[in-house]
Amino acid sequence: MNCLRCKTKMIVLENNSIKIDVCFEGCGGIWFDWMELKKIDESHEADPEFIKKLSQCSNKKVNLSEKLNCPKCPKQPMIRRFSSIKRKAEIDECPQCGGFWLDAGELVAIHSEYQNETEKEAATKKYITDLFVTSPVVAEEHNQVKEELDKIDKFKNALRFICPSNYLPGKQKWGAF
Ligand SMILES: [Zn+2]
Ligand SMILES: [Zn+2]
Repeated sequence: MNCLRCKTKMIVLENNSIKIDVCFEGCGGIWFDWMELKKIDESHEADPEFIKKLSQCSNKKVNLSEKLNCPKCPKQPMIRRFSSIKRKAEIDECPQCGGFWLDAGELVAIHSEYQNETEKEAATKKYITDLFVTSPVVAEEHNQVKEELDKIDKFKNALRFICPSNYLPGKQKWGAF
């Protein structure tokens, strides 16, 4: 598979026997198939060797503002959003296949956000609850988010609604809160 950003041929690195595509000789971007990111998004799930290898990528400069299409789904644009309410990383997600694209450094940034999934979920739920109390402007999205939260497996999808960064152009400016 070629890199979505710099078109360099990506290599396969293993993290606890999961094969992950990395743009090692180019920009350091990483492609995760559906559910792969979930298996490595907490720091204790990452093999130190894998993280070390990532730090040795070429770090070729790329245009990070360029919109990406999913490499697996023809003509499907990826959705860009923050990895969590802490907003340390902007990640690209395919709404069709559930794949993720992370640019160089973003996995480490995600690891620095929360100790584990429980902590992250608790923080996100509190954030959403506070939001609905204080901001009537998001009421429109309320049911959509709540439905997502009810399905705990899809918890991360809820982040699309509460942490989008540049999708829904022309719609509500989420940066307001
Ligand atoms: Zn690349
Ligand atoms: Zn896709």
